[in-house]
Amino acid sequence: MARIWLSPPHVGKRERELLLDAFDSNWIAPLGPHVDGFEREFAEAVGAGHAAALSSGTAALHLALLLLGVGPGDLVMVSTFTFAATVNAIRYVGAEPVLVDSDETWTMDPALLALALQEAKARGDRLGAVIVVDLYGQCADYDAINEVCAVHSVPVIEDAAEALGSTYRARSAGTLGAMGVFSFNGNKIITTSGGGMLVSESAEHIERARFLATQARDPAPHYQHSVIGFNYRMSNLLAAVGRGQLEILAQRVARRRAIRERYVAELGSLAGVDFMPLATYGKSNCWLTTMTIDPEAAGTDRDTIRLALAEHDIESRPVWKPMHLQPVFAAYRAYLTGVSNDLFARGLCLPSGSSLTEDDQGRVINAFRMTAV
Ligand SMILES: *Cc1c(COP(=O)(O)O)cnc(C)c1O
Repeated sequence: MARIWLSPPHVGKRERELLLDAFDSNWIAPLGPHVDGFEREFAEAVGAGHAAALSSGTAALHLALLLLGVGPGDLVMVSTFTFAATVNAIRYVGAEPVLVDSDETWTMDPALLALALQEAKARGDRLGAVIVVDLYGQCADYDAINEVCAVHSVPVIEDAAEALGSTYRARSAGTLGAMGVFSFNGNKIITTSGGGMLVSESAEHIERARFLATQARDPAPHYQHSVIGFNYRMSNLLAAVGRGQLEILAQRVARRRAIRERYVAELGSLAGVDFMPLATYGKSNCWLTTMTIDPEAAGTDRDTIRLALAEHDIESRPVWKPMHLQPVFAAYRAYLTGVSNDLFARGLCLPSGSSLTEDDQGRVINAFRMTAV
């Protein structure tokens, strides 16, 4: 029996065809017709005005902060319950993160954000931006967050790296702030092996993102540069794969949601097992199915279950370790409720890849039941 991975890449014939087309055309560079096509089709798919295809989601976060003029001396409020890339980007521009805890949706607590912004304002701090993370595919509560941010005229960057195909009040994830960030890393809902996309309603911002991402070359016959640039563009080969993946995005999302539903149906009634709640204001793409295990009620704990699954050659993982608990970010200001601490102590991600077969999901469920009872 083969190992079952948490969220492996899932690509098919069409992506291969497009990749070979790009290869044979000799557009083997970080520009080309597939890059242009992927940007156009992606912007249309999520209902964004404009999109820039980049080398990673992290690069997209970095450029989003630069475009909004965030730099040294600025504070950036950010979800503490996330992957490190979100907060790393704040440090790339020399700004200071303020880590904000989650509410019962596992995403940023809008009331706590309001408090963080208020206190920063009262201290006379400069507010650069707020980065909100759509966790495991679930959108944060953007009506509440945008209202709070509007009071302080601070722009919102939406880290939708995990949330392509999710919605918030019928609007696509990634389009709910001033700028949206997506990732096509190998474990995400669609992949280009590595890659990212920055979207915005502002044509000017996206034009500038493309400029900065191609070494900031001024228009001149020779190489001339007036500002610091980056090598952040997506390769044409990878954009070809991305176009193929985008064609079947709806199927990928449907499969991830079905995987979650089956886990809930077959494991949801076990004592001490609770799945990540789905907020009623939107529809998650269910990128990863995640749960908490209450040791007292379950008679076992997260790590016992994780190790037992590993014995069956099944990969599962603890949920993200919050950024305020990371040695590298522990010294920064944090607004905490205890929610993400608790989730980190008890939370587990189950194999959720869209290529997971019914049989393999059955294997996960059986192995889980054997340890949980
Ligand atoms: C994956 C991820 C990123 C980083 O994306 P890369 O394409 O790997 O650079 C950023 N934020 C979150 C929340 C992610 O899950």
